[in-house]
Amino acid sequence: MKEQIIFFLLLKCCYFGNSLGDRIHIGLIADRNYEILDKVFSKAIEDVNINLENQLAPVTKEIDFGNSLQAYNTICEILPFGIGSIFGPSHFYSSKHLLNLCDEKEIPFIEIYDNIKPTAFNLYPDKASIADALHDIIDAYEWPSFTLLYESGDYLGIVTELIQLYAEGGPVMNIRKYDLQINANYRSILRKIRKSEDNCILIIGSSESIYTVLKQSQEVGIMTEAYKFIIGNLDFQSIDLESFRYSEANITGIRMFSPESPLVKELTSYLFEDDELQGNVSCPITMEMALLYDGVMLFAETSKNIDFSPVQLNCGDSVWDKGSSYKNYLGMATVMDGITGNIFFENGIRIDYSFDIIELVSSGLTKVGTWSKADKVSVHRYTPGLTFLGDEMSLVNKTFTVLLSKIEPFGMLKQSTTKLSGNNRYEGFAVELIQRLAERLGFNYTFVMHKDDVYGAYDTKTNTSTGMIREIMIGNADLGVTDLTITAEREAGVDFTIPFMNLGISILYKKAQKEPPKLFSFMDPFANDVWLLLGISYLLVSTSLFILGRFSAKEWDNPFPCNEEPDELENQFTFGNALWFTIGALLQQGSEVAPKASSTRTVASAWWFFQLIIVASYTANLAAFLTVEQTSSPINNVWELAENKGGVQYGAKQSGSTRNFFAKAEFATYNKMNEYMTKHPELLVSQNGDGVQKVLTENYAFLMESTSIEYQLARLCNLTQIGGLLDEKGYGIAMRKDWPYRSKFNEAIIDFQESGVLTKMKNKWWNEVGTSGCSSKSEDSGVAGLGMDNLGGVYFVLLVGSVVATIYGFIDWLYNVYRRSKRYHVSFKEQLKEDFRVVMNFSANTRPSMDLISMYSRNNSPDGS
Ligand code: GLU
Repeated sequence: MKEQIIFFLLLKCCYFGNSLGDRIHIGLIADRNYEILDKVFSKAIEDVNINLENQLAPVTKEIDFGNSLQAYNTICEILPFGIGSIFGPSHFYSSKHLLNLCDEKEIPFIEIYDNIKPTAFNLYPDKASIADALHDIIDAYEWPSFTLLYESGDYLGIVTELIQLYAEGGPVMNIRKYDLQINANYRSILRKIRKSEDNCILIIGSSESIYTVLKQSQEVGIMTEAYKFIIGNLDFQSIDLESFRYSEANITGIRMFSPESPLVKELTSYLFEDDELQGNVSCPITMEMALLYDGVMLFAETSKNIDFSPVQLNCGDSVWDKGSSYKNYLGMATVMDGITGNIFFENGIRIDYSFDIIELVSSGLTKVGTWSKADKVSVHRYTPGLTFLGDEMSLVNKTFTVLLSKIEPFGMLKQSTTKLSGNNRYEGFAVELIQRLAERLGFNYTFVMHKDDVYGAYDTKTNTSTGMIREIMIGNADLGVTDLTITAEREAGVDFTIPFMNLGISILYKKAQKEPPKLFSFMDPFANDVWLLLGISYLLVSTSLFILGRFSAKEWDNPFPCNEEPDELENQFTFGNALWFTIGALLQQGSEVAPKASSTRTVASAWWFFQLIIVASYTANLAAFLTVEQTSSPINNVWELAENKGGVQYGAKQSGSTRNFFAKAEFATYNKMNEYMTKHPELLVSQNGDGVQKVLTENYAFLMESTSIEYQLARLCNLTQIGGLLDEKGYGIAMRKDWPYRSKFNEAIIDFQESGVLTKMKNKWWNEVGTSGCSSKSEDSGVAGLGMDNLGGVYFVLLVGSVVATIYGFIDWLYNVYRRSKRYHVSFKEQLKEDFRVVMNFSANTRPSMDLISMYSRNNSPDGS
């Protein structure tokens, strides 16, 4: 006795230290998966302790599988703690041994494995119920006959129950047994099934063997569309089913809890690191983990109602005198919302639980119905072979979580002076669409704004999903509505309704900029070569007049008409006169020179006619050129954009279907654009709004979906769409794969399309709500008055002409003064002074002839010479 006390004190000190000494201990003796069960046990105790006055403390021990003696010794080691309850090992005999001892000591024994025992508190569903559920599912599927393939040993119990259920009739059942072995080969049994008539197979066995059986079924060729499997193992969802997802065989199973329930999610993240979860199991939490957690909840619930603690016992003849009361409380306790549902007992057997019926589809396991003892099979979606109970497809009073994204005009926060709550906070096209669908189909909905702008996708190779698509796939939302493009990648993970809006990718860019008027814009009506040819024609015509004039006798005139026989004749078409005549005609002025000979008149007529047309064309074109301002855009189509013409950079939304379109495109131009965008990640934006801002402030073009472009153009008048659509696609409402109500949604959307509801909605959200009345026509229409910018060149020519003429006139005057000074032998200075005086005498309009001036100047000279 003395030794035992010392041992106990040591144990107590080693396990808990002194502070835990007053807690109620519960024991776990595990013969497999010790580490993880130890973690679950501690986590469950930690969680329940939050609401407990009498805190619980774990005592855990690992033993070898099937070693009953070790199990016995271990319980003897922990009894001195004062144990309130024991969770036993998985091995039937080891656990039976411990149960016997616990019964003797009146310690409650909680069973979490399918070793149902009369005196234990069995959390695991009894074999009869599992058999019952399988029987009902087979009935619902209307299997005419099937092969029952079971693992020998522990699973015989379910088989026996099934045989009893089918004792009074039902489908033909061929029973085959297999053994669990390492490197087992079940192929010969499976080949026999292939050769038989049966294409329906019920497999009952351990999680370890079921994977191998399914794998080998695939190898022998019975994992095809023609075969149907039902798996009678509650850990079906913890088996790696990745390789069977696309097999097309119908594989159905049952489970007690969903991986999506909050408690399971919390436990999963507590037990596993993210990288440990990369396996392909639908749920890493197994039945033993879930039931261990639930067992702790059950014990905690009981201990709330009891004001006494367990006592320290040993393996001798000591008994816990209040143990039977504890057991009574435990038998009556109920736990609501455990991982595996509500827990009630009737004679130590768990009652009133239900199973989910799950089916393997390409996106993973999906729930298709439920089973409970009372309601039997009820189907939540149409599955060929399953019979509906009532109008299961009705959406009336169902509530869905609808994921929105904060993007104009699909999902926006309502502006209000009062505080809004719930669905009322949101408005937009997507919000209205769901409102209308809900009115039509009778469902309720809760909007949830998605946390970021990533709509996401599903990668079939890595079986990973992101963004909104992930939220829907893991069941956090039922529907996703926004500018969510239907793409093949997304279709692999979720389903879409038919498109409610059609669109394509296009280019958003600034409107063509007005060119600043040029100084010589009066030259614009004619192209440069026309001006050049006009100049050449002018010279040629002048030359021809000059030559023809010399050839024609009529152009030779008497310079002195009084002298009838003059010594010489004069031709009016000197080269200078010819040039003067042609320019006079060109400028619509005329000159004193007039052709008289037929040849020169013919040339002149041709030239005038030519001028008539040229001047008329110039005048007409000048009016158009000066009044309509020229606009120019560096890019006019996607090819020019790909070439970065005018230095225009471009990008798209970084994680959207547009970027993806270029990443996958096979067309050379798009490949080039993809390379460009990959090389310049800084040009990609996280949301469309940022792209629009970039277009407004930089030399940047944004690849955007046409519907969004349309929305922006109605608001930002200086933006435009460049070119047409690069592809064609649509927006759809996303939902879980094989969601049962998809067809109802499709019908309603078609109806909205046909009745014009969608068009009306689009017009409202695109062109009525929050538009600035921006119209594409307003700015270009009307004729603007001509300003100095337009006519500056003409003034310039006038100015240059005047300046040249002045300079020429001045030089000419100086030259004449010089000639006269020479002729009359006066000094240049004097002659200049005299000439200047005469010129500046503005009151006199006559002047003496040159000779008189010279004489006068000589007589008045100071020396009188
Ligand atoms: N509608 C796109 C999507 O569903 C987002 C916008 C874009 O990529 O242009 O991913």
